[in-house]
Amino acid sequence: MAEPVEARALAALPKAHLHLHFTGSLSVPTLVDLADARGIELPEQLVDSIALDVPADKRGWYRFQRFYDIARAAVQGEDALRTVVRSAAAEDAAEGSRRLELQVDPTSYAHSVGGLQPALEIICDEAVIASRETGVQVGIVVAASRIRHPFDARTLARLAARHAGQGAGEVCAFGLNNNEWEGDTQEWDGAFRIARRAGLPGVPHGGELRGPEHLAEVVEHLEPTRIGHGVRAVEDPELLARLIDRGVAFEVCPASNVSLGVYPTLADVPLTTLLDAGAQVALGADDPLLFLSRLVDQYEAARDIHGLTDRELAGMAKASIEASFASDTDKSRWLREVDDWLVRSAP
Ligand SMILES: [Zn+2]
Repeated sequence: MAEPVEARALAALPKAHLHLHFTGSLSVPTLVDLADARGIELPEQLVDSIALDVPADKRGWYRFQRFYDIARAAVQGEDALRTVVRSAAAEDAAEGSRRLELQVDPTSYAHSVGGLQPALEIICDEAVIASRETGVQVGIVVAASRIRHPFDARTLARLAARHAGQGAGEVCAFGLNNNEWEGDTQEWDGAFRIARRAGLPGVPHGGELRGPEHLAEVVEHLEPTRIGHGVRAVEDPELLARLIDRGVAFEVCPASNVSLGVYPTLADVPLTTLLDAGAQVALGADDPLLFLSRLVDQYEAARDIHGLTDRELAGMAKASIEASFASDTDKSRWLREVDDWLVRSAP
């Protein structure tokens, strides 16, 4: 029998946001302000982003990367770095996020502030301030890039290790991002080992642009605690079961999958397949600047397109909190708030 129509406000559902990139977190107006301040002219397609209107055969990684690089040119200097952290926390606060794990490769911003270390220090410092001001606890994920040398990743892992912790403004995990087709995954195992030794769990990207064979390599060599995306694990049920058995959580970003042409429509994102298999799923926005879809939009799609009930949506919000790297005390508090959401706002 069909569930009754439920309409609890999803922005009021307490949740954790575990997959959000630094420059990609910006809203278009904030990016325009930053670009104006630096005298940079942004291409029309970026300002009037039309990601979802692009035909499926015109989507894809390289178009995405080109726009990301242009946007990043506007995010240079200490003030801009602080603006990004502040606005990401403010946007998340409006969407019911209790914990944001903001992913950044400080390499991209280092030259504008005098080095890798100052770049990370500024970001962590502002994360403390933004957490206090917005009530969203902002942790930082330091991520290496597949388009740079694996030794650069080791340097980043050592830097991240010096800031490791569970609280606001501390580095909570180590990632690997950029084009999944770049590089030999095995070569990053050293960086992930350094991170793990410092107590930093691995959260590499995998299983979005490439299928299960590549994802299996990511799992084998980088030993992730969470996987960025991982949606294409559904193409290999044995791999999916293995990931679930190992307790690997999935950071699923439906709008990203569609914008990058991985799936033709949101209905094709295998969200219910993952949930039915018992996967721990944390919905994320990935790059709202380019996909024009923020955190709550992912939950809306889960409700409207995949037919999840409020109880199932609350379960997913709880999974996001449990998969975060916050302290157990903070997690328990937020989990109770999810229960309150289900009880108090019953329509
Ligand atoms: Zn991502």
